[in-house]
Amino acid sequence: MTAIDAIRAAILEDAPGDEIAALPLPEAFRAALVRADEQEMFAGLPSEEKDPRKSTHVEEVPLPELAPDEAYVAVMASAINFNTVWTSIFEPLPTFGFLQRLGKESVWAKRHDLPYHVMGSDAAGVVLRVGSAVRNWKPGDKVTVHCNYVDDQDPSAHDDSMLAVNQRIWGFESNFGGLAEIGLVKANQLMPKPAHLTWEESACNALCNSTSYRMIVSPNGSQMTQGQTVLVWGASGGIGAYACQYVLNGGGTPVGVVSSPERVAVLREMGVEHVIDRKAEGYKFWSDEHTQDPAEWRRFGKKIRELAGADPDIVFEHPGRSTMGASVFVCKRGGMIITCAATSGFTIEYDNRYLWMMLKTLKGCHFANYREAWEANRLVGEARIHPTLSRVYTLDHTGEAAAQVHANLVEGKVGVLALAPEEGLGVTDPELRDRHLDQITLFRRHAG
Ligand code: NAP
Repeated sequence: MTAIDAIRAAILEDAPGDEIAALPLPEAFRAALVRADEQEMFAGLPSEEKDPRKSTHVEEVPLPELAPDEAYVAVMASAINFNTVWTSIFEPLPTFGFLQRLGKESVWAKRHDLPYHVMGSDAAGVVLRVGSAVRNWKPGDKVTVHCNYVDDQDPSAHDDSMLAVNQRIWGFESNFGGLAEIGLVKANQLMPKPAHLTWEESACNALCNSTSYRMIVSPNGSQMTQGQTVLVWGASGGIGAYACQYVLNGGGTPVGVVSSPERVAVLREMGVEHVIDRKAEGYKFWSDEHTQDPAEWRRFGKKIRELAGADPDIVFEHPGRSTMGASVFVCKRGGMIITCAATSGFTIEYDNRYLWMMLKTLKGCHFANYREAWEANRLVGEARIHPTLSRVYTLDHTGEAAAQVHANLVEGKVGVLALAPEEGLGVTDPELRDRHLDQITLFRRHAG
């Protein structure tokens, strides 16, 4: 039996921590990665023709040495995030520049600067070993991993760690991410695994759920209050589906925007009453590549008023170039457009008169600090927020899974099995699960 097989077997048998700690570590493990010598492979192609299946390889890489503040996690399952897409299509920049910059920070950071990049910013699994400085975690702990990669010796990291000058996203701006049999993480990325969820349901939340928590709930985001109306773009997507749950939980009124009747249906079952199918409505905010059409912004705003009876207090923005003009226009006087991304293009245009004359705020937001990620994870653990897993692939098919997300073909989250041999394993609180089964499986059921 190989070392990896022994680790998998021990986890499946729920072996105690001392047995896990005594297992030999493998010299190498399988991982989904991109290669530096292929970073020009899509040069000149339009974004939609850049195919993650061509750039993503699954192969063995050597186990990196463990730093004192780190843990090895045996990854049972991981998930695709849009940053996996960015890494695998080398947009807007190849991620090797991030690894080189990180590599200059310290002797330990140098390990990350390699000619390959192990991707992945989510994971659920079991702690295998901890470094000598780790206090709160031990081998055998069942964990999920959040992706805020913070240098805790830097003073700028000690208020809101997202403001740290060298804040990074694990598995995107660092190497040794979660799309692998073993993940290398800082101890301050670890959180308890929700007991009522499977490995793949546990693995799909941290990145998107924490991001939406900060954007909707946290004072660092829009801090929605009861009764507010929130326009959510991509409302059945990775971050949008968690945003809708936070708006509903907090007593707000979500107005979800999606692009198909199937997506309308999944949101309705979630409890989102007002849903706009942007394809069916045929909005054309841009009349050509350089010109936006304010009449279309108005038509969109009218639809929101018709449905919700009010302009949105908060606009949950992330498509970027294609929607920002409309988002700034439809937002309520004094309201907030909160943005964390620009999927359709990062050079945005909006009519600034609608922002300043109506005292609106445009606010940037990025992932979450440890406390926010911890709170968001706690809410999942208490079954107040539910995973949005819709499909599951194996590690060997990571490229295909990323291609599906790239092409906007999936709802919610896409899981990836790493060491878990099949779906459905890892539940230790079946009672809590039974009570919320319909909500937990909502996206999976709709995916068919
Ligand atoms: P996703 O699962 O692909 O969902 C995005 C949704 O956006 C899609 O379901 C789609 O919904 C909608 N959309 C896509 N293009 C659009 C367009 N041109 N106009 C209007 N709607 C559009 O991705 P995600 O995980 O939610 O991530 C969304 C973005 O946020 C990505 O760029 C990602 O990198 C970024 N992100 C940033 C952070 C951060 O910390 N800063 C964290 C997570 C994600 P419909 O087609 O149904 O309308």
